[in-house]
Amino acid sequence: MLNDRDRIFTNLYGFHSPGLKEALKRGNWDGTKFLLERGRDWIINEMKASGLRGRGGAGFSTGLKWSFMPKQSDGRPHYLVVNADESEPGTCKDREILRHDPHLLIEGCMLASFAMGAHAAYVYLRGEYIAERIALQKAVDEAYEAKLVGKDNVHGYPFDIYVHHGAGAYICGEETALLESLEGKKGMPRLKPPFPANMGLYGCPTTVNNVESIAVAGTILRRGAAWFSGIGRPNNVGTKLFCVSGHVNKPCNVEEAMGLTFRELIETHCGGIRGGWDNLLAVIPGGVSVPMVPADQIIDAPMDFDTLRGLRSGLGTAAVMVMDKSTDVVRAIARISYFYKHESCGQCTPCREGTGWMWRVISRMAEGRAQKREIDLLLDVTTRVEGHTICALGDAAAWPIQGLIRHFRHEIEKRIDDYAANPHSDPVLVAAE
Ligand code: SF4
Repeated sequence: MLNDRDRIFTNLYGFHSPGLKEALKRGNWDGTKFLLERGRDWIINEMKASGLRGRGGAGFSTGLKWSFMPKQSDGRPHYLVVNADESEPGTCKDREILRHDPHLLIEGCMLASFAMGAHAAYVYLRGEYIAERIALQKAVDEAYEAKLVGKDNVHGYPFDIYVHHGAGAYICGEETALLESLEGKKGMPRLKPPFPANMGLYGCPTTVNNVESIAVAGTILRRGAAWFSGIGRPNNVGTKLFCVSGHVNKPCNVEEAMGLTFRELIETHCGGIRGGWDNLLAVIPGGVSVPMVPADQIIDAPMDFDTLRGLRSGLGTAAVMVMDKSTDVVRAIARISYFYKHESCGQCTPCREGTGWMWRVISRMAEGRAQKREIDLLLDVTTRVEGHTICALGDAAAWPIQGLIRHFRHEIEKRIDDYAANPHSDPVLVAAE
């Protein structure tokens, strides 16, 4: 459990003003100049030592990612791009930072940019985040006015920050699609290599980081890597924002220590499972792209990257979606499949064709209008999509179905048996095409 004194986001719920005056009282921008004076290498080493793993889903070391940027400029500018696209269904953590603690993010942008030799940072917000864009822009304007950022700021490191509003496509959360969109093109993922650290925004060295990863940087550097790495479990350290939704008594967004158990998370912050623990069916622990985990496996599992990977799922964005026994899991996954079919950018055949095919088949299964042998066929198709596409959307479309078949094959079979015994007419696909 996290002590209050270890919380980084002290205004997560907006009980106080997000404005600069209040942010300064909360400790934002405290000693930033001193941190910058310690140098690029110190910042990167401290971030590496803190053990911070990217909060956008992949869980890659943030400090290591920063170290991939060229040490010396070859004449091209360096850029930091903050991914505030937050489109993974169930995920609603970054928006609270943007609304209520924006100065933590702006300060983090400056520190991270300095560490990577960038003099400009772009924050890319999803199209639907209008209130968040207004809040962030207001905070950026305040920071410029107070000369905390800008060409001639009090920190002595010229730095500009730009807020960019996307048009609301899920795929723009993929880092290279985001860069394409930022450049004014269609948001379609790029083939890698080259990686953004060599050739990113406008062909220049770029690092793309999640909002939460950047917003925690200032506090980590102020309080020290040892403090951050002392929270949580080995290799899964620090604090983390969890967004809990679904069949709990009090859905919430909360900052907690990485590695607390699912039971602790739900009992302490969410008022328990609707109908009690015996009513829990399954949990999607990290946004809809990760496979679900059945109740008996997750109840006492630590909520961290490694444990959840061991359960053949993932922490992802820590968007924890709880499903009780009233849930039609097959239909739920069919709806998720529709989402991926809808959001596929269509560049690669396995994703473009596969997501639609998987959605149509799983939709039939949700009604029972299928053959049992099709379950293995569907599973096989998911493996043909997974790992055979330009970006991870193909994987994200395949994994929820794999999780369903792994844990709830009996539910699909029962649906097929019921339909065979009592066929009904007028089939309807889950979600309209
Ligand atoms: Fe586009 Fe899907 Fe290919 Fe990603 S995997 S590039 S979303 S078609």
